[in-house]
Amino acid sequence: MIMGLEQIANEVGKCTRCRLCSTRVNAVPGDGSSNAKIMLIGEAPGSNEDAQGKPFVGRAGRLLNEMLAKAGLRREDIYITNVVKCKPPGNRDPEPEEIGACSPYLDRQIEAIRPLILGGLGRYSSQYLMEKYGLEFPGITKAHGNAYKVDSLFGHFLIFPLYHPAAAIYNQKLRPELERDIAELARIAGIIKMQDI
Ligand code: URA
Ligand code: SF4
Repeated sequence: MIMGLEQIANEVGKCTRCRLCSTRVNAVPGDGSSNAKIMLIGEAPGSNEDAQGKPFVGRAGRLLNEMLAKAGLRREDIYITNVVKCKPPGNRDPEPEEIGACSPYLDRQIEAIRPLILGGLGRYSSQYLMEKYGLEFPGITKAHGNAYKVDSLFGHFLIFPLYHPAAAIYNQKLRPELERDIAELARIAGIIKMQDI
């Protein structure tokens, strides 16, 4: 039996599977619709997310919200989470053991939601998703904006790598690319049905 999102969130809230449990304020399981066609997956919570227990509520989240709205996507129709559910100290990158310890929660969320599109925000999640489904990750610069088709036990779906919104804040040149990719993601989500892919 696939357990629901609420059950997963409860487990994440109490989780001690990696060392990040000792420095977090709040675990950040994820947020959004359980019927989402699109799941967006970031890297790990930052300070604002750690304080509120919700994903993408800081500066990167505001940019993401703006771009989603501009593309005609409603954030409440999407499910948003991260590969790693607790904030790494000093906002350092998540380490491989932390990704390894935490990713089973993401895997279960994907199974519970069964979205049509898995959007990876940034290289960590894009690499995780592509490798999980047997695809070679060519680096985020090459991968972003492409839809990779995956056949799995529960049907077909797409992996769609994107730049991380925080990267588009630090490097203004990435902003129009992220905006274009989100518009393309919205376009694809509007036209596909499970049997089309
Ligand atoms: N960056 C992420 O990768 N995830 C968040 O939830 C916030 C910022
Ligand atoms: Fe558990 Fe993931 Fe938090 Fe580590 S990061 S304590 S594995 S929920």
